[in-house]
Amino acid sequence: MNPAVELQNVWFAYDNHLAVEDVSLTIEQGEFVGLIGPNGSGKTTLLRLILGLERPDRGTVRLFGESARSFEDGERIGHVSQHATDRGAAMPVTVREVVSMGRFARVGRGRMREADHQVVDEALATVDLTELSDRRLDRLSGGQRQRAYIARALASEADLLALDEPTVGVDATSRDEFYSLLSRLHHDGLTILLIEHDIEVITRHVDTVACINRELHYHGDSVSFLESEALSEAYGESHGIIHHDHP
Ligand code: ADP
Repeated sequence: MNPAVELQNVWFAYDNHLAVEDVSLTIEQGEFVGLIGPNGSGKTTLLRLILGLERPDRGTVRLFGESARSFEDGERIGHVSQHATDRGAAMPVTVREVVSMGRFARVGRGRMREADHQVVDEALATVDLTELSDRRLDRLSGGQRQRAYIARALASEADLLALDEPTVGVDATSRDEFYSLLSRLHHDGLTILLIEHDIEVITRHVDTVACINRELHYHGDSVSFLESEALSEAYGESHGIIHHDHP
């Protein structure tokens, strides 16, 4: 089985500003990886390189064994970008319509068939939005809206779910429910790559973390990460950013 994501010696700069330096990282299919690092450490850039939205200056990015540049199987990847929660605020569409959009990629120019509607229904049920499926997206809470975007990715039967700080602006209870949902999806075999700025939250929920600060400082199990030098290497000595909002 090809890895879901394979970065080899990847470099990327914005004009003269080096954002990603010589990063090599492999994410196997079925892994749930938290991508962490201080503000401005290159997390979003790395995600964009993985998704083929940016091209590396040097090095290679492969998705499911294919070059990210030529990877055309867009529906295999579900991407929930940063602040997706506020973007939906202006969209005059219902939850079901948004989730169905995920299905269109699979259906192509044809009409949605009964089986496609069923996939949409299942995706809505998985994220617990069946009851709200006819509600407009702008009438949902941030957490509910985020779940609608996950359902859209599920409806497209994505093999990789990539999320950029999905719980920004979401309250602690909804955030925990959100992570429980991701855990369930992970146990069902979905590969998940998630950017999260809160180290305490991420290490509580994922098995594997990748920590970058331009360079990759750590990739491995989250428990060992907290005990490793990599934490202070990447964050400096002032990593008092670990929140303990759960006793
Ligand atoms: P993170 O997601 O970890 O906060 P980013 O990947 O957004 O980090 O940014 C990495 C670095 O690249 C930062 O120093 C940021 O200021 C810079 N950067 C990000 N996007 C751009 C851009 N479009 N143009 C120039 N510099 C950018």
